[in-house]
Amino acid sequence: MLTIGCHLSSSKGYLAMGKTAISINANTFQFFTRNPRGGKAKDMNPTDIEKYLEFANKYGINQILAHAPYTLNAASADSSLREFAKNTMADDLLRMEYTPGNYYNFHPGSHVGQGVEAGISFISEMLNSLLTPEQNTTVLLETMAGKGSEIGRSFEELREIIDRVSVTEKIGVCLDTCHVWDSGYDIVNHLDEVIHEFDSVIGLSRLKAIHLNDSMNPLGAHKDRHAKIGEGQISLDALVRIINHPALKHLPFYLETPNEPDGYAKEIEILKEKYGA
Ligand code: FE
Ligand code: FE
Ligand code: ZN
Repeated sequence: MLTIGCHLSSSKGYLAMGKTAISINANTFQFFTRNPRGGKAKDMNPTDIEKYLEFANKYGINQILAHAPYTLNAASADSSLREFAKNTMADDLLRMEYTPGNYYNFHPGSHVGQGVEAGISFISEMLNSLLTPEQNTTVLLETMAGKGSEIGRSFEELREIIDRVSVTEKIGVCLDTCHVWDSGYDIVNHLDEVIHEFDSVIGLSRLKAIHLNDSMNPLGAHKDRHAKIGEGQISLDALVRIINHPALKHLPFYLETPNEPDGYAKEIEILKEKYGA
């Protein structure tokens, strides 16, 4: 069975997201832990969580994916920004314990000038100060498009971070199809080779989720502009090969395409039709 969902608004709580997911034929979903630009998160609502967990169990929603605010920059040269990233992630990870066994994805960060090496040190230091063997959440590093000074534009950069993390069993990777395409991995014409490269550099066992997006821009553009499924330069055919690839087909896929729920419903329907076909 295809595990597929999309990014949903978290403003009305977990139960509301679960219901929206089921209404568009999704069996998982992604959401921001708080305003994507950062700021204070709403208090957790134990009644909402309890109702959500019951609903999720009844309708077969398994793992879900939380996304950190994209303004977090654990690689910043500015110590107050790094401190903010760390405190926000610490708070998010505490909140994730209300729904144990899920994933928490974040953008590694941008080094804004001081260099990849320094940025990678800051990111792994932060992770080492936060991750514990007891936590019930796996933290995922997202593959990035390489816009500006983004870290995570290559599998090697992610490997470098993972190598320095001590609680190794709580760290994984989320591969974003738009981002890897934009960073220069040709998943349209050389999917097998890209997967093989991921496996030899990072290891496929680290790959826990896929952000399934088309891209408005050509291979290697380093832009990061998501397109609707089949309306970008990756194409529907290539995305269908991705969801059906033997090394990937068991993973959860999350759409982050420019859509409202009804647009997501259509994409989910198309992809389900093409799964296993
Ligand atoms: Fe992201
Ligand atoms: Fe993404
Ligand atoms: Zn993106």
